[in-house]
Amino acid sequence: MAKILEGKSCARKIEEQIKKEVQLLGIKPGLAAIIVGNNPASKIYVSRKIAACTECGFFTKTIELSDNCSEQKLLTVIQELNADEKIHGILLQLPLPKHLNEQHIIEKIDINKDVDGFHPLNRGLLVLGKPVFTACTPKGILELLNFYNITIAGKNVVIVGRSITVGKPLASLLLNADATVTICHSKTKSLAEHTKKADILVVATGRVNTITPDMITRKTIVIDVGINRINGKITGDVSDEAKQKSAAYTPVPGGIGPMTIAMLLQNTLLAAKRNDE
Ligand code: NDP
Repeated sequence: MAKILEGKSCARKIEEQIKKEVQLLGIKPGLAAIIVGNNPASKIYVSRKIAACTECGFFTKTIELSDNCSEQKLLTVIQELNADEKIHGILLQLPLPKHLNEQHIIEKIDINKDVDGFHPLNRGLLVLGKPVFTACTPKGILELLNFYNITIAGKNVVIVGRSITVGKPLASLLLNADATVTICHSKTKSLAEHTKKADILVVATGRVNTITPDMITRKTIVIDVGINRINGKITGDVSDEAKQKSAAYTPVPGGIGPMTIAMLLQNTLLAAKRNDE
């Protein structure tokens, strides 16, 4: 029987711990979320993140900008938040509408408030093995593996997906934790040959059934990052049959999603504490 790696309960424990710390801290960690446009999924993600912050005693602010918002307008909002003493973390919900240059805008976020870890400087520090703010989804994956006492050092970890928000920062984190890492993507030949060699397989493609049972072994630990909406139902990137065959897997929903939110809270708390030093 495959074991279920419950991100939801792990995240709840982490958030309880954060709540206690906030009560003792004497300052309220503050998170500002910026959302541009009317992407329904982005709105749901932001509202969940804000609700978790409120539950943990954080100060929060949500700034909603229209679909056709200019780059200048968005940069002005970021400048104001950079200067706002009540705000320790700035979350810019991605993706942005196509006319906005994501990378250029992220670079304008104060690195000390970059709780998503997307600023090039924070990315570089991670590659150097000296992370300050690490991207929340990769960080959440490592936390969940640790929670279930799954050793990373020396393991063959195969990541399917090389995005700058998931695959690439995750590869750095895993290398820093002494795993042997393989990154696969849409141009990888014979994907199954790689995935079958994985002790731990992380899948972040945004494509349902990227992984089928023939692509894993009964010993594979499967981390399914994908979030796909199919006929109103949320499902991951790994087929149900593959999950049942695996040694252990993360469910969708209730796996990496809640861990990502818990790590955002952890990063915001860290930002507040660093600011208070
Ligand atoms: P991107 O679209 O940015 O990247 C997808 C990656 O998957 C690319 O590197 C692409 O390759 C690769 N890929 C696509 N199809 C295949 C295939 N058939 N075989 C092998 N590789 C493939 O997506 P993200 O990384 O942003 O997100 C991935 C998924 O994770 C999405 O479903 C997203 O919603 C979810 N997600 C979930 C989070 C959570 O909190 N649970 C947080 C962030 C994302 P190439 O580079 O060659 O195009």
